[in-house]
Amino acid sequence: STNRLANHVALITGASSGIGLAVAEAMASEGASLVVNYRSQEQPAKELVERVLKAGGHAVAIQADVSQEEDVVRLFDETIRTFGRVDVVVSNAGIQKDAAIAEMTLKDWNTVIEVNLTGQFLCAREAVRRYRTQSRKDAPARSAGCIITMSSVHEIIPWAGHINYASAKGGVRMFTQSLAQEVAADGIRVNAIAPGAIKTPINREAWETEEALTKLLRLIPYGRIGEPEDVARAAVWLASDEADYVTGTTLFVDGGMSLYPEFRDNG
Ligand code: NAD
Repeated sequence: STNRLANHVALITGASSGIGLAVAEAMASEGASLVVNYRSQEQPAKELVERVLKAGGHAVAIQADVSQEEDVVRLFDETIRTFGRVDVVVSNAGIQKDAAIAEMTLKDWNTVIEVNLTGQFLCAREAVRRYRTQSRKDAPARSAGCIITMSSVHEIIPWAGHINYASAKGGVRMFTQSLAQEVAADGIRVNAIAPGAIKTPINREAWETEEALTKLLRLIPYGRIGEPEDVARAAVWLASDEADYVTGTTLFVDGGMSLYPEFRDNG
């Protein structure tokens, strides 16, 4: 570890699984104190906290549903009560409820928008409120605070059968850019990460069988599925002073998935 996040307090939503879990581990190993948010999977969140404490770090697990206003306010209140400040927020929590348009229920639509897009609003609003009231001179970073939204390659790649998810991620793209523009003068940096296909429980059926994986790999020029740690390294960099002049951008971590791979054979 290079201690790039020493003295930073990092809050990661949906950190009990997949990408969020890996981001939390990576940030802790760079010296950050962790707020491990989970919605329902208490056990892996508690285990992560135990591992960090055992390694001599600081961490706390806090239950909250990012789509609920009171939960998100309480999440930040408890964060400040525990660590005195917050410096990095990774809005990672996200879900899929896939269906063809004619079969999609209003509930499937609303739930995905509420978690994947409204959850971004609620977390970022709380982050900005806290960042603005914190002392700049005690800040561990050059910025007054950093927000990382977990987007997807589907912020630009249309996705049939997943119209709620793609609409939410398209929204996250414009949310990230508009917010970055709005709060840059406060010294707050806002960026998105757009993962491609990363091996996590959210897309198990896309990599579980040999057949599914072969099909998936045709969409990935770099020739392998992504690991949560690939995204975690990007998140650490974006949160650190190394990315101090980076705001309002989306960092694609996708092995080239967004490069129109069909065109490889069209020379
Ligand atoms: P995952 O299912 O392993 O993790 C999602 C996490 O979010 C879980 O811990 C879950 O408990 C939590 N969560 C869900 N709803 C919540 C809520 N209302 N409040 C708080 N937490 C909630 O999946 P993942 O792949 O790690 O996904 C993480 C993020 O990455 C999501 O935003 C997803 O859209 C995005 N993403 C994933 C991939 C991929 O290929 N895995 C690709 C692009 C984007």
